[in-house]
Amino acid sequence: MAHSTHTVFGGTLFLSLLVGLSACTNQPKMTDTSATPKVAAFDVSTMDTTVNPCDDFDRFANGTWKDRNPVPSTESRWGAFTILAKENLEVKVKGIIDTLLGEPEAPKGSTAQLVGDFFRSYMDTAKIEELGTTPLQPFMERIDAVGDMKAYAALAGEYARIGASNFIGLYADADMHNSRMNILYSVQDGLSLGERSYYEKTDSAMVHIRAEFVQHVDKLFSLAGLPEKEPGKAILDLETGLAKLQLTNVERRDPDIFTKIPVADYVKLAPEFDLAGLLKAVQVAPDTLLLENRAYVQKASAYLAAQPLPLLKTWMKWQLLDTYANTLNKTIADENFRFRGTVMSGTKEQKTRELRALRATDNLLGEPVGKLYAEKFFPPSSRKKVEDMIENVRAVYGEHIKTLAWMSAATKEKALEKLAAFTTKIGYPDTWKDYSMVDIRPDALLRNTMNLIEWRSNDNLQRVGKPVDPKEWGMTPQTVNAYYNPSLNEVVFPAGILQPPFFNPDADDAINYGGIIAVIGHELTHGFDDQGAKFDGQGNLVNWWTDADKANFDSLAQRMIAYYDALEVEPGVHVKGALTVGENIADLGGVTLAYGALVRSLQGKPEPAKIDGYNWKQRFFLGWAQVWRANITDAARRRLVEVDPHSPAHFRINAVLGQFKPFEQAWCPDGKGAMLVPDSERVVIW
Ligand SMILES: [Zn+2]
Repeated sequence: MAHSTHTVFGGTLFLSLLVGLSACTNQPKMTDTSATPKVAAFDVSTMDTTVNPCDDFDRFANGTWKDRNPVPSTESRWGAFTILAKENLEVKVKGIIDTLLGEPEAPKGSTAQLVGDFFRSYMDTAKIEELGTTPLQPFMERIDAVGDMKAYAALAGEYARIGASNFIGLYADADMHNSRMNILYSVQDGLSLGERSYYEKTDSAMVHIRAEFVQHVDKLFSLAGLPEKEPGKAILDLETGLAKLQLTNVERRDPDIFTKIPVADYVKLAPEFDLAGLLKAVQVAPDTLLLENRAYVQKASAYLAAQPLPLLKTWMKWQLLDTYANTLNKTIADENFRFRGTVMSGTKEQKTRELRALRATDNLLGEPVGKLYAEKFFPPSSRKKVEDMIENVRAVYGEHIKTLAWMSAATKEKALEKLAAFTTKIGYPDTWKDYSMVDIRPDALLRNTMNLIEWRSNDNLQRVGKPVDPKEWGMTPQTVNAYYNPSLNEVVFPAGILQPPFFNPDADDAINYGGIIAVIGHELTHGFDDQGAKFDGQGNLVNWWTDADKANFDSLAQRMIAYYDALEVEPGVHVKGALTVGENIADLGGVTLAYGALVRSLQGKPEPAKIDGYNWKQRFFLGWAQVWRANITDAARRRLVEVDPHSPAHFRINAVLGQFKPFEQAWCPDGKGAMLVPDSERVVIW
């Protein structure tokens, strides 16, 4: 969707729901006491050289690493991204928070007060146990007092501001038809399991999850002392009915599904449901909005209005309880982990209270923490280095576009214009959000969490009808990730990803080109994937393609879809080619551009010496394999196949490299290997 950004790792990031991950540095300046140990550029002891690299390059490059690094009991996946994120959080961010905790009598609203008191409130388990669910009680009582659908709609709008879902999601983002202005978006929402396939698939894993969900809801209601007895089945049924009316995540990829509609017409779509009252309670009053799916609003509002009011009220209680379960007493938080962590993701053991407190602080106060993080760990000189790398890849991309056989001169000219218009953000923001007015106390975890969620909603929704702030960031500086934002036509690289193994100042070029340069190429390519290609250089949904070129591009994308559809994740479970096509195009494009940039950088220079017996071409691919090495639990793998627009890490290595001719030339001179795609079937887009 246009309102989403395109990351290199993990799920799709919605600008309206910013959640940071973890923390870090670029040029490891060793003034920091938590000095990062020096990372070998590529450690050959991680390999399994008994395997033919042309049959399974992931196993060849990473086999021993995988054997020695099973997923820890407190994680659901374990690889370069997650390890770095964990180290950032548990060493660097922890160091920052520890320092803030040591500041006595911090003034109200200061970073030390906000961060310190939030963290203290998370750690104050005595108070949390003493309070139990009483902080949530007034909110439940207001639901009890709802007497009709009108009151229900108004309360649903009010509670949306504190993070409790109803059937519609509302947020502000850049208008895809006028990218300099923010507009209100209305999208489908309300599924506790996240995606409609969870309600529809009949395989045993999904049947099991639904059965567990029913028990989980029953248990939370009982632990919270709510009077509704065993409402799990009714809530599952209600959401199943709603799911049937929703678009799939593949259908939602197409930005063309959105229509601009006057709010006066929007509220008329649902005569049975008081959308005007809901909007009023959300405190937004635009003239127009961008609607994802007209039929959904019509059918879902009628569907809900036909349900018994007591059931809708129970559902609202559930949404509230689900949102705040982690902030309540231990038995509730533990049950929440059992379902969300273990059943849904395969994580066996909950993290320590302190680590959860760190993560929650980083999620909700990631910007104030990130400002300190950036000052400490990202020297200004690093920005220039990354800028140079991006310009290098941009130049190569331009050369590639000029030589494409499938694109006409007219479209090439437009593509080059868009490429030239890309902007960049590196390291950390120039301006920081002001959290000083948020009320945070050392002994009120639920209230603190609610205040921060509401602050975030306000911060987002107050933008409706206002110009887009081009300086805004969609990730915190400490995040180990990167993204492309089509509405600003920008690529963004937080400080967190600018460190080994992605970017290692001590490494040979080949390893860095296979790492951070390929990540840069990946993000640039998003401007031209199945979604990005629909936006022009100004971030507007404008078709700049000739019909013939668009048809050529679509047919290449179709071949990528078919290629990935055929990949089996486990017996009977396939990669979803149509869900992952944008990321797969970006991966193949990223590798292509980075390799081209490496070749270009070596022109006129002597051939680099082999390292550990591998030449520079081979090491480029080892670098790529290194950043995607990962182990994952079975449950998390199945979940990601359903919801993640990225292919599983194993295929980000093997499927991408199997497509790429220079890989074959570097590693498989006889042209034989299970991974390799025959020349006649290769897809070359960029
Ligand atoms: Zn991506």
